[in-house]
Amino acid sequence: MNEIKHPLPYASWETRGYWEGAGRGELVLQRCLQCGLVQHRPRGICVHCLESGGLEHFVASGNGEVYTFTVTEQNQARGFAEACPYVMAYVTLDEGPRILTVITDCAADDVAVGIRVKAHFVDQERDDGEPFAVPVFRLD
Ligand SMILES: [Zn+2]
Repeated sequence: MNEIKHPLPYASWETRGYWEGAGRGELVLQRCLQCGLVQHRPRGICVHCLESGGLEHFVASGNGEVYTFTVTEQNQARGFAEACPYVMAYVTLDEGPRILTVITDCAADDVAVGIRVKAHFVDQERDDGEPFAVPVFRLD
């Protein structure tokens, strides 16, 4: 399994905390201070109570389990084509949200629904100085 060459992340005002956290090797999620919902992907408002002024970022455990997955045999997108086959999965994080990701550094046959995984961070080579990384997951 070759490594995926991820597109360079672009950080908006909503996603900067997530990408900067990944660059530090931390999986950063948002929590609503009004209702307690933990959400991912990062947004400017809580998706449950629509609170916009009370979101905090926090460092999640990086632990979760595979909710579902597929083995991608074909993908024509640059950076992904060379990595086929690779495992794409939804991971349910211990904090609640599900994240669309890839499972790396294992054989596809080793992945199963319910198996424990842990976040790992792929640093990005870029020339704009942004210290971002892309979260992926490995078997725990
Ligand atoms: Zn809320």
